[in-house]
Amino acid sequence: MSFFSTRGGACVTASQSILWGLAKDGGLYVPSMFPQLSPERLAALCGTSYQNQAARILRDFLEDYSIAEIEEAVNSAYSADAFDHEDIAPVRHLSDNTYVMELFHGPTLAFKDIALNLLPHLIRLAAEKNEEKREVSIVVATSGDTGKAALEGFKDVPGTSCSVFYPADGVSKVQELQMNTTGGGNTHVIAVKGNFDDTQTGVKKLFNDADFHTKMDEMGCLPSSANSINFGRLAPQVVYYFTAYTNLVQRGVIRMGQSINFVVPTGNFGDILAGYYAKQMGLPINRLICASNRNNVLSDFFTDGTYYTHRTFFKTMSPSMDILISSNLERLLYESADRDSSLVKTWMEQLTDCGSFSIGAQRLSDLQKTFWADFADDTMTSDEIKLIHERNRYVLDPHTAVASYVLEKYRDATNDHTPAVLIATASPYKFAEDVVRSLLGDEAVKGLDAFDCAKKLEEISGVPIPKQIAELHDLPIRSQIVCEKDDMETALLAQLKK
Ligand SMILES: *Cc1c(COP(=O)(O)O)cnc(C)c1O
Repeated sequence: MSFFSTRGGACVTASQSILWGLAKDGGLYVPSMFPQLSPERLAALCGTSYQNQAARILRDFLEDYSIAEIEEAVNSAYSADAFDHEDIAPVRHLSDNTYVMELFHGPTLAFKDIALNLLPHLIRLAAEKNEEKREVSIVVATSGDTGKAALEGFKDVPGTSCSVFYPADGVSKVQELQMNTTGGGNTHVIAVKGNFDDTQTGVKKLFNDADFHTKMDEMGCLPSSANSINFGRLAPQVVYYFTAYTNLVQRGVIRMGQSINFVVPTGNFGDILAGYYAKQMGLPINRLICASNRNNVLSDFFTDGTYYTHRTFFKTMSPSMDILISSNLERLLYESADRDSSLVKTWMEQLTDCGSFSIGAQRLSDLQKTFWADFADDTMTSDEIKLIHERNRYVLDPHTAVASYVLEKYRDATNDHTPAVLIATASPYKFAEDVVRSLLGDEAVKGLDAFDCAKKLEEISGVPIPKQIAELHDLPIRSQIVCEKDDMETALLAQLKK
């Protein structure tokens, strides 16, 4: 299998796509085809470990990695040291035909760990395969969760460094603290005066800037990406859609071959795109329900076929979804355009030049067969956290609550009661203050810091405070580096030169 760019000709191997992150023409790497999992192969996955499922699914995409390499990488990424649940991605029954897949049992308590625990292994192997002698310098833009997960994943990995840019006022307190307490001799954290879109656009600009590549080369560095634009981030996420499905088969909730729905809290469109890839590979998925917060650019897109970014950017209680430019949508557009890269290129140019593009009625109606989208604002999200706790004694984090609300709306609107899996992307402990406020009201959190709120949440939920949160209290905080959004290159080079 080779990898093409969504904007034109590139034809590279899996390891090259992972090593380089973004194609030279600014496009994203996409697999030349989707490996097919026959019903027999799907049945063979049932009842096997997460590690085994990951190895079997990844090997079809990562053709220039040996099976032994993939197995070793998967086993060390999904170890009992890193994840506090042996299933890695446990599936719980919430109510009736709603299930929750908890993807927050990794080191940083968000679903990004699933991919970012594996990516450093894939990148190190890719550097070897391509005889890359330079340091692989990971540069990341984060809306909160990717940053910490990437820092943890790459911390002290030989031959790499990891630099994270985050929007100075756009992440939660716990997220910021998590990043600014990371150890490691090869990690850098920089706050950008701007929002996530400024931050992500700044990083993308660097990747597309020949001068930047020359400067990095002179320093012996090869810039690469650990954002979900990197195919190495996406591929590991395909796995858990299979895990959820086989889990429900195993429990007798569905029979093999029966379709299910997934509802996914969405920002950069990486997670839900992995679900779409799983469907393309033959996993019986009926609907992928795309849930946004008040930054509802995607729900508008799936409603009228126009992607329109010239709108107000809102800061919400689900900060990891505060995004107006969802990078991975480009990969879906590529499929929607029947892999016509010149059409994708035109749309992307229109997006840059005028802030919008339209895909037309026919393509929209094709996409709507698979995707359904809506959004929840902060009030709805807050109410949903309270409602689900009252009804089911289960505490959702704000991102997952957005999805839960949208699932309810979907069922009301369509009367489709197909079993649905809610993708739970973060532990409520990462957002304890907002969660406790939703459950108990404003008064209850007055004067409390993030740790007090975590204690309160422990009392309410009976789920012990994860050690990753408790530890944060005592870890030394690194000195903070802040830059203007136009000075990201200078700030980065200064850090790397140290
Ligand atoms: C990153 C993130 C999302 C959004 O995922 P995308 O792949 O960017 O769509 C949702 N919830 C949480 C908690 C996240 O960290």
